[in-house]
Formats: sequence, C-alpha cells, structure tokens
Amino acid sequence: MSELNDLKKKLAMSSRMLFNSGLVDYSGHISARIPGSDHLLILPHPVSRATVVADDMVVTDFEGKLIEGKYKAPSEVYMHARAYKARSDIQSVAHLHNHMVAVLTMVDKPFYPASSNPGAFFGSGAMPVYMDPALIHSVEQGDAVARTLGKGDAVMLRGHGSMVVGQAIEWVFAACVDLEEAASRFYKASLLGPVRVYNEDETQRTIKARRKDSVVQKIWDHNVAKTKLAGLMEGV
Ligand SMILES: [Zn+2]
Repeated sequence: MSELNDLKKKLAMSSRMLFNSGLVDYSGHISARIPGSDHLLILPHPVSRATVVADDMVVTDFEGKLIEGKYKAPSEVYMHARAYKARSDIQSVAHLHNHMVAVLTMVDKPFYPASSNPGAFFGSGAMPVYMDPALIHSVEQGDAVARTLGKGDAVMLRGHGSMVVGQAIEWVFAACVDLEEAASRFYKASLLGPVRVYNEDETQRTIKARRKDSVVQKIWDHNVAKTKLAGLMEGV
C-alpha cells in the first residue's frame, strides 16, 4: 500500500473511531500532511463521519484551495491548512466539536488539563482558548487559531470545540480521546471544589508514561476493536 493510501485509510478509520467515541457527529474532521508537499489530505464536506472511506479524502493546499477530490473540502479547512503552514512539526490535525471541552470554554475559568492523567498528555499550564466563536472560514482566521495554539498540542475554541495537532494520525486520535476525558474529569472535579493541579514534577513524570508510541498504539488498537464491535469499520 502506498504511503498516501495508508494515510487516507487511517483518516477514514480515525473518523469512524472519533464518531464512535462521540467526538465528532455530522461535523468535525481530521487531516494529515502529505509528506514533502504543501498539501494536506482531509475528510470531505458532505460525507458522514461514520461511513467515510479512504477514497473520499480530498487534497487542498495550505491556502485551503481544493487541489484534488470528488467532493468539496470542509468549510473550516483553513484551521488545518494554516496549522500545517505555521508549524512544520505538525503531521496531523483534528477539529472536534467535543462536548465537554466546549462546555469548559463557556465559563471564565481556566482549564488545567494536567490535573488528571489523560490531561497530563498536554503538559502543564492552562489550555489556550481562541475567543472568537465564529467558524473558521478564512486564511486569516486559520492564522489566528494557529497563533493561539502556539507551540502546544491543542487549542480550545470558545463555544465551539477544539483543534488538536500532533506528529501522526494515531497520536492526534489518542490526544482527542485524552482531551475529552480530561475535560470531563476537570468539569466534575470543579463541581466538588477547587481542582488540585499537578505540579511540574508530577506533570513531567506523568507525561513520560503517557507520551509513548506504545501507549498511543494501545489507545488506537483498542478503539479499532471497539469500532469494529460497533459494526462501524466495514469497507473502510
Ligand atoms: Zn467547527
């Protein structure tokens, strides 16, 4: 299988897995940089995230312009395109309308992901929030989201969801799962009292155990199995 076909298949698989995990519904998307080019592969606009197949993927440039594909690109492709443009280390990007993360953006209170082990994946400090709730429909808005992301792994979008970036599709998928779990735990803990945030030493030791290819692969394999059991991995 060529590298490009492999990426397309992994995108289709991860889309169905994100759907099965409740992290995307009719909207939300995941993409991958095409290695050695100024192009990206992304889910198409109209196809269900639960049934998308490898051949449905479309190609755009880093200005968000459609280069190849039988469908149009998602309207928020600019978020992906400008993240790749801003950071050469990013190989995959996901945009989620994830419920608990969106809830946490609706209050004037910072979210410290490193207060539970899944959240420690994102390191210490409060997660940045892009404050404009408008959908990301232009290069300029995509650049503004990338600036708020900075060097991090995720940025929250106020009242909207999040963008998660990483070194591979599997890493981004695992980070999406961890982010929503961390947000859910943080929300529940906040109801009980002040949240105990990990100190730097605790954060670093937890990250060491979490940010590993073997752990990422375990999360991926588990979700492949779970999505197969749900009958959602046919003909991917
Ligand atoms: Zn969106």
